[in-house]
Amino acid sequence: MPVIEVKNLAVKYEDVNIFLDVSFAIEAGDYVALSGPNGSGKSTLLKAMLNLVKKDEGEVKLFNVPIESFLDWNRIGYVPQKINLSPFFPATVKEIVALGLVSKSFVRFKKEDYEKVDEALEMLGILELRDKNITELSGGQLQRVLISRALVGDPEILILDEPTTALDPETRERFFEVLRHLNSDKGVTIILVTHDTGNAGRYAKKLMYFDRKIIFFGTFDDFCKSEKMSDYFGYGSQHIICHRH
Ligand code: ADP
Ligand code: MG
Repeated sequence: MPVIEVKNLAVKYEDVNIFLDVSFAIEAGDYVALSGPNGSGKSTLLKAMLNLVKKDEGEVKLFNVPIESFLDWNRIGYVPQKINLSPFFPATVKEIVALGLVSKSFVRFKKEDYEKVDEALEMLGILELRDKNITELSGGQLQRVLISRALVGDPEILILDEPTTALDPETRERFFEVLRHLNSDKGVTIILVTHDTGNAGRYAKKLMYFDRKIIFFGTFDDFCKSEKMSDYFGYGSQHIICHRH
């Protein structure tokens, strides 16, 4: 069953088309690495799927519901590439993460909510930061707080836009282990934007290579067998991606 369906999607900023006529479906339980050059439209594609930028043409359905009328945003966890901290300011880590439990309306947090917050912080190994003010955090710590916020509501789909750029190698490995657990053991559908096409095959099941359009979308096995991709990437680069999956 597809949990995300994108049909003939086009987005433009001012008068410039970022992409045109993009169509694909993400199945429940997929783990997709979304890769491509800088400025190729990956972040914009995710935002259009989440109704955060206006689409110019086409349609997006989440759980079979057109995004215009989709309300169950707590079923989706999103870690944006860039965040503006001012809406949160000043706030503690636990308050920020608890916001992941609120979809739109204001609620008073209960004891159980803060237990979920602690669990999410623990998963990322940052429980000891819970009462710190977010202005005191390093880039890598803040990134982990935002990942915890996306996880805290037990989302069915997790969308992560370059979430590991500020993480050290050890923390990054731990984070990929958390994602593997969520995907394999809990069936969470994952879309992860990464620059690192060469390593994507180590954790994701499918690759979407995007450069203003879908260059490739499928399993790593299909990618490796594809002559079209040998031509596109050159045999050497294709081999590096395949070697590591
Ligand atoms: P990627 O995530 O693949 O690096 P983006 O989706 O961020 O790419 O950007 C795609 C293109 O759209 C780039 O040329 C970028 O400069 C442009 N762009 C991104 N956001 C905006 C915006 N808010 N207004 C105008 N242009 C934008
Ligand atoms: Mg981006």
